[in-house]
Amino acid sequence: MILVVADHDRGVLDATTGQAVTAARALDPQVDVLVVGAAGRDTAAELASYGASTVHLAVSDSLTDYAPLASARAAVELVGRLSPAAVIATGTPRGNEVLAHVASILDVPFAADCQQVTIAAPAHEVVRNRWGGNLLETAKVHSDVLVASFSPHAVRAEPAEGAGTVAEFAPVLADADTAVRVVDRVGEGAAGVGLAEARVIVSGGRGVGGPEGFTVLEELADLLDGAIGCSRVVTSNGWRPHNEQVGQTGTKVAPDLYIAAGISGATQHIAGMRTSKTIVAINTDKDAPIMGYAHYAVIGDLHTILPALVAATRAAKE
Ligand SMILES: Cc1cc2nc3c(=O)[nH]c(=O)nc-3n(C[C@H](O)[C@H](O)[C@H](O)COP(=O)(O)OP(=O)(O)OC[C@H]3O[C@@H](n4cnc5c(N)ncnc54)[C@H](O)[C@@H]3O)c2cc1C
Repeated sequence: MILVVADHDRGVLDATTGQAVTAARALDPQVDVLVVGAAGRDTAAELASYGASTVHLAVSDSLTDYAPLASARAAVELVGRLSPAAVIATGTPRGNEVLAHVASILDVPFAADCQQVTIAAPAHEVVRNRWGGNLLETAKVHSDVLVASFSPHAVRAEPAEGAGTVAEFAPVLADADTAVRVVDRVGEGAAGVGLAEARVIVSGGRGVGGPEGFTVLEELADLLDGAIGCSRVVTSNGWRPHNEQVGQTGTKVAPDLYIAAGISGATQHIAGMRTSKTIVAINTDKDAPIMGYAHYAVIGDLHTILPALVAATRAAKE
């Protein structure tokens, strides 16, 4: 049996959780899923649609929102009870954080950002991303239970029939386990399509020139029912909020269409969008590294090209 730790935000599953359940099914047909917090109760049906057998719902008065150590305690309690061959999550910030705690409590290694996993004795084998995906490392992991996260989008989520039976339990938690937890959220709620789930992303880099330059990107994103993304230079300059950053230290995305406008294609940016199905690069520099990844390249000034794209898209929709 494989135990998957679900990543959800107040009851909404992260779009990559289905990928973790699918990856786990390839290792063992029985996949149980841990969902932490009563808000996650309604995720059972969606998890079942990816083949989850039992959804273990950890409920406690102190589990009001995301709490990494408490989530790990709940996972470790299940490991003691169910003896899974592996504990798996997708390598989202929350997934990696919880599994790091799980591995620490169990005193076993943690293999993060895997592309492939093979459960075996005397050592498990993992193929994982290093250097932002520029290098694939094959490694042996010596531990009874394998604790591993899959890189987001390393596996495509495939539907399967699972029972999705909900088994509620109250994990044993100390006060210190919820010392780090989300207590409040400030700032604007994300409007429109979320970056991680967007089928179309219109992304801007330094070449956009400033915050006001993003107006035309927003217009195009709206017309294509897409989301805005950006490079780290853009968030570091305060032109756009951090939650729009794509890359190694931002969100990892794999939309159907990724439009990179005025983005050079540094390895740290590519690490977050290289699995996009179609990449369109708009850049004045024909030798920019992004061109090595682009399916379509438009060599020119984005301030001319994007308004033309907006006009053409608007005309096509009329
Ligand atoms: C530890 C670490 C983590 C990092 N994580 C990330 C990350 O998660 N995401 C990320 O993006 N970066 C990340 N970076 C930063 C990364 O190395 C690059 O500095 C950054 O991605 C560059 O952003 P950019 O492409 O917008 O800017 P630049 O590299 O400056 O590129 C600007 C591009 O715009 C083009 N351009 C200029 N004017 C125009 C115009 N008018 N029309 C069309 N094209 C134009 C230029 O030709 C150029 O190619 C990280 C760096 C480090 C060290």
